[in-house]
Amino acid sequence: MERAEECMNVDICIVGGGLAGLALALGLQERGIKAHVFERYSVPRPDPGAVTYIGENGIKALEGIRPGLSTVMAEEGIYATRKKSISVRDGKEVSTKIIEFAEKTAMSVPWKSAQQTLAKFVDVDVVHSSHRLLYYMPHQDGIEAHFEYVSDKDDTEKHIKVVKARLLVGADGIWSTVRKLMVGDAPRCLNLVEWTAVVKDPNDRVVKGLGMGEICVRFQEDGKINCILVNAGDYTIWILRMAERKSQLSDTNLSSKARALMQLNKYKGWEELRETIIQTPEELILERKLMDRLPLNCWSDLDGRVLLIGDAAHAQFIGSGQGARTAYEDSHQLSIFLEEASHSFFSKESIKTAVRSFEELRVPRLKKMHGYACHLALLPELKPDWVRKLSNEEVLKWAIEFRNWINAYPNFQQGDPNSTYCK
Ligand SMILES: Cc1cc2nc3c(=O)[nH]c(=O)nc-3n(C[C@H](O)[C@H](O)[C@H](O)COP(=O)(O)OP(=O)(O)OC[C@H]3O[C@@H](n4cnc5c(N)ncnc54)[C@H](O)[C@@H]3O)c2cc1C
Repeated sequence: MERAEECMNVDICIVGGGLAGLALALGLQERGIKAHVFERYSVPRPDPGAVTYIGENGIKALEGIRPGLSTVMAEEGIYATRKKSISVRDGKEVSTKIIEFAEKTAMSVPWKSAQQTLAKFVDVDVVHSSHRLLYYMPHQDGIEAHFEYVSDKDDTEKHIKVVKARLLVGADGIWSTVRKLMVGDAPRCLNLVEWTAVVKDPNDRVVKGLGMGEICVRFQEDGKINCILVNAGDYTIWILRMAERKSQLSDTNLSSKARALMQLNKYKGWEELRETIIQTPEELILERKLMDRLPLNCWSDLDGRVLLIGDAAHAQFIGSGQGARTAYEDSHQLSIFLEEASHSFFSKESIKTAVRSFEELRVPRLKKMHGYACHLALLPELKPDWVRKLSNEEVLKWAIEFRNWINAYPNFQQGDPNSTYCK
């Protein structure tokens, strides 16, 4: 039987100090509400070597969380200037499309810098590092959450902390413990593998021919391979994604770099990317299998005392670039609803109303986004049935409508009534 060594009473307990958790704590802090964040690792955590690409909806959400936040975030990354999309068939480039971005409407920010920027603004006394949620249970009008933690003084012995809260927010990412306790499902493997690296490259040696802030997306028409290159000022970012059907990558003793090159060698027309990978130091290359979460109709538990946000609620195929943006949107919207609840001193009813309103607004939006992300995933079997029936022109119309709809944030969150595919 575990022994509770410490007890805490808080109004709002956020599990997870990633992008959604910290952004929510900050959004609430800006509204005069103190929420506590419990993160299993350190905050900021070790660099996952990833980059977040944020468009208009994400920028508006950041501004809603804290005015000026998007500008500070951009200083840690770079505003995107233009995006070039090149399709490849039989090793040859067959078409190129270029989108010029309006000033300050999209940015690339390393994941680590995004987390550090958020952490910088959140009061240090509300962020509890090295606290891993074990389980939660109802307690009076709220919940009781049990954490395993390591004290600062002796970092080997595990202790138990019981946190009593009016609302527990599960912002604990794709491998969410809160979701496991609430729903019991697991992430879905997308049979895609991704290699990515953020390389310090002030003289553009690793990536050539891309202007400052330019993004180049290159994809094979059959969907088996795609890559993204970003000139992010002092940094070059590259991402390579490929279908992986038979786990041919996991059972080898090769390094990530060698595996990436071995796979790439099977295709013609990717010499430039091959060169980029060769020039990247091995230790900077992150390899991972891509996962998502099947959409849920409900993100709450125990009559509105527990709520999921961010990847825990709606992790989606990363290719749509909405992961960090929707984490910020969630945090922004939930801050607004909880501010309302704070006027009733977080009564059980006021929290329930906030949670219900949040779900009504967000669940339909994220279901639509999930459908679009599945359509973008490389594997045809992930495409929803109705999408397979669309002609190329209809798919193009959907892509334009989708972009307009998400960028209209915070308007039309549940769906754009003037659209055909994003209603
Ligand atoms: C390589 C890579 C590239 C990406 N690129 C993009 C991109 O270009 N654009 C984009 O929009 N998004 C991108 N994303 C996705 C984006 O990073 C995520 O969608 C976003 O981080 C989700 O935020 P979150 O807070 O929900 O989850 P996370 O940021 O994963 O945070 C969850 C936190 O919860 C903590 N935690 C987990 N379990 C527990 C527990 N039991 N107790 C306490 N704490 C716990 C974890 O340690 C973690 O810190 C990318 C992600 C990766 C990995």
